[in-house]
Amino acid sequence: MAEREERTFIMVKPDGVHRSLVGEIMERFEQRGYKLVGLKMMTAPKELLEMHYHELRERPFFPKLMAYMGSGPLVAMVWEGMDVVAQGRAMLGATDPLKSAPGTIRGDFCQATGRNVCHGSDSKAAAAREIGLWFREQELSHYTNDQHAKWVYE
Ligand code: ADP
Repeated sequence: MAEREERTFIMVKPDGVHRSLVGEIMERFEQRGYKLVGLKMMTAPKELLEMHYHELRERPFFPKLMAYMGSGPLVAMVWEGMDVVAQGRAMLGATDPLKSAPGTIRGDFCQATGRNVCHGSDSKAAAAREIGLWFREQELSHYTNDQHAKWVYE
């Protein structure tokens, strides 16, 4: 990974999978010039979801969130590139889709906070924690995209 690049954890939630939005969401990151370095599909075990959303465990919607996130397969991804943590959040849009700008994933595809189709790490520290939670080091790829090096980065 080049010095100016960083990694973030992006997930297509079960509603995004059921609504066939996996390709659309991945395409947006690819088209922006970000590099896919980790990818897996699974129905997440309850323990993993509880660790992932540990900070929200006292919130009233937590049981509903656990049921939603465990309701079917999700797609977990790691994307790499310049400022990708903050840019990934911007591409997802606000947590509440009704407050998300058109042009963002949530602003284009969702209406309800409890069905907001995607997750993205909200800080570099969260990205490191979440990538470590969902992926083993050997499941992450290291490669140079020559096109990006020449045509995406200055
Ligand atoms: P984000 O996913 O944008 O980082 P949070 O970490 O605050 O947002 O919340 C995690 C997830 O919990 C949200 O994406 C959403 O699916 C769900 N959630 C948050 N707040 C609510 C709420 N008030 N009612 C139902 N679900 C919620």
